[in-house]
Amino acid sequence: MATHACRACGSSDGELVLDLGMQPACDYFPLRDDPRRDPVYPLQMWLCARCGLVQLMADPTTPQEPRGAEPAAMIAQAADAINRLDAGGLLPGGATIAEYGSPHGGSWLDRLTQRGLKPVSDDDPADVIIDCFGMMHAADQRGALAERAGRLAAGGVLLLQYHSLDAIIHHGQWNALRHGHYAYYSTTALTTMLDWSGLSPRAAWRFDLYGGTVLLAASRATEGCVPDASVRALLADEASTGVRDPVVLAGLQRDAQRRATGLRAFLAAERAAGRTVLGYGAASRAVALLRTAEIDSALLPGVVDASPAKQGLRMPGTDIPVLSPAELSVRRPGAVVLFLSDLRAEMLASYPEVERSGGMWVDADALTG
Ligand SMILES: [Zn+2]
Repeated sequence: MATHACRACGSSDGELVLDLGMQPACDYFPLRDDPRRDPVYPLQMWLCARCGLVQLMADPTTPQEPRGAEPAAMIAQAADAINRLDAGGLLPGGATIAEYGSPHGGSWLDRLTQRGLKPVSDDDPADVIIDCFGMMHAADQRGALAERAGRLAAGGVLLLQYHSLDAIIHHGQWNALRHGHYAYYSTTALTTMLDWSGLSPRAAWRFDLYGGTVLLAASRATEGCVPDASVRALLADEASTGVRDPVVLAGLQRDAQRRATGLRAFLAAERAAGRTVLGYGAASRAVALLRTAEIDSALLPGVVDASPAKQGLRMPGTDIPVLSPAELSVRRPGAVVLFLSDLRAEMLASYPEVERSGGMWVDADALTG
């Protein structure tokens, strides 16, 4: 295996902790009738022994994700987070703001502008720099953080929001691993990375989004900024989880195998019983599960998704078509496997026809073999 150099510190001292084999570029949804085999690439997670950053190994894919629908859960979390920041005095009216967005959407800029913050143009310094699931998309992690830190005005605050590695480990979210997502942050590793950029974390907020999302506020260490109790509590929790322990992280490999076996057994049993099953959520994280479990359209004849951009396409690396929500009424499935478990409440409310016609919602993550 070629040596990997850490995306944050350059060290090649580290370990492969999760290997999902050859996977398609999950953000490239081919046309439904495209007969070509989708190219596949290794999908592997690596833990740096020096700085502790958990990261994607080689990524030969080109990101071209059709932008998904912005889920209500994400919109509600943004409003909650902004209220908490405001209460903490971190969003003063008149402050300048710059945003590093995520290619998946979910910008906070409009909401913050409405509160009186003033956006600056590219490269200009800002009092508040917000990065909401953005930095994980940078192949060069050290460079990305240095760029953000370098734009921080005197007395400014950098706000980083990320799906926490602690949550990934606790909930066995092995399929958070995907091409195009280069870093899986623990607050522990980020604290080390921030230190190299002259910054120190000062406060943190936790949210339930994705099973555990952290919003971390950091400022210049030279301005006397030190971690408060909320940051210290996060670091203590992560130490007890073992976010830097390769043995702990390798548990994700077992989770992957259990979920794949469980999904396959469920679909095979439903088919044997003559019941129709559909999936819901043509999300990138469903792709690795379907591939690892070797599911085809004979076992799962379609995955429903609300995004118009995904209609007429199929799930990467499979022959499973993406269907419109109208198909839920047409096909009246006995079960709908939900690939986005955090959207369960939203789905029950949005598609009452599933239960009305006797179908049930099944959480893909709860099917373990
Ligand atoms: Zn490193």
